[in-house]
Amino acid sequence: MIEKETKIINIISNYNRESQNISRLLIDKLRKKNFIVPKEYDDRAELNICIGGDGAFLRAVHKYQFPNIPFIGINTGHLGFFQEILPEDIDQFIANYIDGNYVMEEIFLVKADIYTKKDYFQLFGVNEIAIKGIKSKVVHLEVFIDQNHLENFCGDGIIVATPAGSTAYSFSSGGSIVYPSLNILQITPISPISSEAYRSLPNSAIVPGNSIITIKPEYRYENSILIIVDGIEYRYDNITKINFTVPKKSIYKLNFDKNMYWNNLKSKFL
Ligand code: NAP
Ligand code: MN
Repeated sequence: MIEKETKIINIISNYNRESQNISRLLIDKLRKKNFIVPKEYDDRAELNICIGGDGAFLRAVHKYQFPNIPFIGINTGHLGFFQEILPEDIDQFIANYIDGNYVMEEIFLVKADIYTKKDYFQLFGVNEIAIKGIKSKVVHLEVFIDQNHLENFCGDGIIVATPAGSTAYSFSSGGSIVYPSLNILQITPISPISSEAYRSLPNSAIVPGNSIITIKPEYRYENSILIIVDGIEYRYDNITKINFTVPKKSIYKLNFDKNMYWNNLKSKFL
C-alpha cells in the first residue's frame, strides 16, 4: 500500500451537475492547501477522492484497475453506502485529512477464475460476482467448497459477495450483513428452488477467506450463464467451472469515524 506523501490528489467525479459543482469547489480548496490536483488521473497520487454514489465508487475502482491509492467518497448518490463524506462537511474532511485523523481500512475483494473449454479468464469484484441465467431462465449449478460437493443449485442464481458487498445485492437477497474487516466470502442464493424436484440451500452461507468456492454449470447450461461483476454483465461460452476466492490484492478506504459503520447502516437501512 502506498502511504507516501506526494501532495497529489485525484478527483474522480461523475457527470451530474451537483458532483461537478462539488468537484470544482473541492479542487479550489485543495489547491489553497498546496495539494496538486492533476487534470488527468495520476497513479502517483496519495489519495483518490470519488464524488458520486456507490456506483461512481465502483466504476472508479474498476476503471483504475483496483489501485493501491486509498479512496474516500463524497456522496451525491441515492444511497452512498461507501461514500463517507457529505458535501457540507468538505472543510472538516480536508482539515482531518491534513491532521491524519483517519484510519486506513482494507476492502477485501472477490476474484473469479473462469475456465472455459479452451480459455481462462479472471475477474475481480468489490461488491460481488453473481452467476445468473441468460433470458431470465433458471440456472442449474453445482456448488463445491474446497472441492467438497455442497449442492446442486437450481434457481435464479448465486451471489458470491464480499463483506463490503454484503449490504448490496446479497442483502436484498436475504444475505447477512458482514463487518468489512472479516476476511470471508458469502454465498447467497437468488430465489432458490426447494421442491420435490430440486433442493437448494435457502439461506446464505459464509465461508472463510482462504477457501475456494467452485461453481460448475451443469453441461446443458454451460452456454447459458451470465457473470455479473458489480453490476456489469460478462458472458463466456463453454464455461466448465468458476473458482471464487479472496485475492491477495485489496483496495483501501480512509475512515474518519470509527463509529461510521453502524451509524451508516442504521441511517441508510432502517
Ligand atoms: P444501482 O442500480 O444504482 O445500485 C443499486 C443500489 O445499490 C444503489 O442504491 C447503490 O447506491 C447501492 N449500492 C451499491 N453498492 C452498495 C453497497 N456495497 N452497500 C449498500 N448499497 C450499495 O447500480 P450501481 O450504483 O452501479 O451499483 C451496482 C451494485 O448494485 C451491484 O454491485 C449490486 O450489489 C447492486 N445491485 C443490487 C440489486 C438488488 O439489490 N436487487 C440488483 C442488482 C444490482 P448508490 O445509489 O449510491 O449508487
Ligand atoms: Mn448507483
